[in-house]
Amino acid sequence: MLPNNDQTCGWINELPKRTGINKFEGQASCDWIIVGAGYTGLSAARQLGNMNPNMNIAVIDAEVAGEGASSRNSGYLVESTMNDGFVSSKNTEDYKTKCDLYSLGIEKVKKFITQHQVDCDWNECGKYYASSKIEDEKKLTRFNNMLSSLKIKNQILYKDDLQNRLGTGFYKIGIYTNGGILLNPAKLARSMVDSLPENVTLYENSPLLKWETINKKINCTLSRGTINASSIIFCTNGFLSSLGIESHYSFPLLLTASMTRRLTDKEFNQIGSPSEWGVLSIRPMGATVRMTNDRRILIRNTVSLHKNYTNIESNKNIHLKGILKRFPSLPKDIIETTWSGTVCRSGNAAPIFKKISNNIYATGCFNGSGIGLGTLFGEEIANKACNNMTNEIELIQRNKKPNWLPPQPFLNLGIKARFLIDKNYAKSEL
Ligand SMILES: Cc1cc2nc3c(=O)[nH]c(=O)nc-3n(C[C@H](O)[C@H](O)[C@H](O)COP(=O)(O)OP(=O)(O)OC[C@H]3O[C@@H](n4cnc5c(N)ncnc54)[C@H](O)[C@@H]3O)c2cc1C
Repeated sequence: MLPNNDQTCGWINELPKRTGINKFEGQASCDWIIVGAGYTGLSAARQLGNMNPNMNIAVIDAEVAGEGASSRNSGYLVESTMNDGFVSSKNTEDYKTKCDLYSLGIEKVKKFITQHQVDCDWNECGKYYASSKIEDEKKLTRFNNMLSSLKIKNQILYKDDLQNRLGTGFYKIGIYTNGGILLNPAKLARSMVDSLPENVTLYENSPLLKWETINKKINCTLSRGTINASSIIFCTNGFLSSLGIESHYSFPLLLTASMTRRLTDKEFNQIGSPSEWGVLSIRPMGATVRMTNDRRILIRNTVSLHKNYTNIESNKNIHLKGILKRFPSLPKDIIETTWSGTVCRSGNAAPIFKKISNNIYATGCFNGSGIGLGTLFGEEIANKACNNMTNEIELIQRNKKPNWLPPQPFLNLGIKARFLIDKNYAKSEL
């Protein structure tokens, strides 16, 4: 599990603390068990519960529901992404499918927040892909062509425009895309916890330790008891492989982010009082930087292998450097919170959506873009499990499948080698 740093996430700290946490103890049986209460598991539970009001559904989470990666992310609900290799025209079809899935993800989240009247600081302000190196112009022009060929609205911008919009002269070139949304991830996750249907029972701080099939039933051993279920859906994302699900097709990584305190009026005026914005790096492993609607700066420019600990202080120093490079007028003690979260990756950036057997399903591995995809894939795995075949499922199944990964220790060696190359390439963008 994650390092016990729940008190450190700037998004979660702003929410009222959850009360009445229900830990599982003893023996129970139910129709369905959903493992993992992030966007994916909660969306699966909502859909399954609403479709089957007479069924008894349990959702279990190892920690506090919704407060894993689903609350710890940067809050970009994306309509496109750049850094997974799809920048050459021969992959247009794959890239189109991926963007169609992102659009469906946005629709699903929008429908959810409209239906449940959720305030998650939703802002349809678009987003930027930017670089401090004008040499990236060629790469951006290719990306601009790719987006335009798919009718994804976008515009190339240079230093002065970027400075006016972002309040920093750091970036020399960028692309603005209109379609992305910025939101508060923890508010969204909390609203999904709060709106579970009545026939769904949530158990938190109740990790699944072991599971097996006995006489066609799924027997789940939790830390303080056992639950038997007729069927199970695994939605544990970065922890799928540790539960023996698609172990050779995905792996976890640890991302660490920092958020500043709110900028004072003076500090904010000094940088030109920009409206809320979000920048993704053009180079893999470069910094994700966001100016929030309440004048805080969020930065994420570190990634590491998944371990049981993370060196928060050294990550925080790297984050501070990144902030001061962009905003040299800010003081050195501006960072208020630093936290880590687990993401799930596959070798070819493809997600998992799978019927493993008649009563075992799994979905996850959203490669760092799980706000929309988690919501979409969660709802659709519930549909698939109920044989309710939808157009969305058809599109999801048309998408690429994750490719096979080598076993340890070769996998970690490969990941480390890739880190070295990408970190070196992204040095200027940290
Ligand atoms: C720093 C950071 C920045 C990110 N930025 C973005 C972004 O801007 N946009 C975007 O779209 N995505 C982003 N992501 C990725 C996004 O957060 C994830 O893709 C998303 O949260 C996936 O949702 P999920 O429900 O599948 O998984 P999670 O939110 O990880 O939920 C899985 C749940 O499973 C539980 N679990 C694990 N093991 C067990 C077990 N054995 N028993 C019971 N429960 C278990 C965990 O406690 C957790 O609550 C970011 C992630 C991080 C960490």
